[in-house]
Order: sequence, then structure tokens, then C-alpha cells
Amino acid sequence: MIEAQREILYIVLHCTATAQTATKEAILSYWQNIKKWVWPGYHYLVKTDGKFSRLAYEHQPTNGVYGYNQNSIHICYIGGIDEKGRPMDNRTEAQKETLLFLVKWLKDKYPKAEILGHRDFPNVAKACPSFDARKEYQLIA
Ligand SMILES: [Zn+2]
Repeated sequence: MIEAQREILYIVLHCTATAQTATKEAILSYWQNIKKWVWPGYHYLVKTDGKFSRLAYEHQPTNGVYGYNQNSIHICYIGGIDEKGRPMDNRTEAQKETLLFLVKWLKDKYPKAEILGHRDFPNVAKACPSFDARKEYQLIA
């Protein structure tokens, strides 16, 4: 199999903007059946217990940030809103640990990549990922 080569310039953090109890299956089904996406939304999905799933191989683009997907790897944690649907950083300690692990591991693989939150891209009106990813990971080089 020949893997498509793509240049990774962004490691992007997201939240699902769902309840923390949302399952991976429900999230995947929403993308497939409601949004009709061919590719999943993100490469890695981090659950509240800190375990993560790979939803797509890194050589394939996913649907994280419109216009930037060809050059991005997307990481997402389940949660990011309060019970009224307002943005809230409700990451568990286990999620924080796994997110940090993934960011470091990916930055190691793609040293040129910038670490950003979804909201740090131009013309994004969302609060995603509900925390300041740029600041939180600023020391990872
Ligand atoms: Zn996002």
C-alpha cells in the first residue's frame, strides 16, 4: 500500500462539545449518519478515563478544521461543555495526561507542526477546545 504523503503543519486540539458520557460509537455514528462525512472528524479521541482511540491513520486527512485538514492532525477529548451547552474546560486529569502525551508524541514525529486549538484558526467562531491549547503546550518544542 502506498501512503499518501502529506505535510503536517498543525497539531490541533478539539473537544466533542458533547456530554462527557458520550460514547465513541455515538460520536462516529453522528458523523457518518447525520453529517455524512466520509472521513472521521479527528485522528485521536480521548475518553474521560484517559484511554484514547485512533479513528483514522495519520496519512489520511480528517474533518477537524475546514480548509486546514490536509496539513493537520486532530486530537479531540470527549466533553468541553457544561450541562447548559456552554463552553467549559471539564477535562479529567486522565484526559489532560493523555492529551499531553499525544501532543508530545506527535510533536516529536512532526517537529515543524504548530500546536493550536481549533479556535486559534482564522474565522472560527467556536470556543473549541474550551481551553487555551497554545498557552498550555507552549513549552513543548
Ligand atoms: Zn474543534
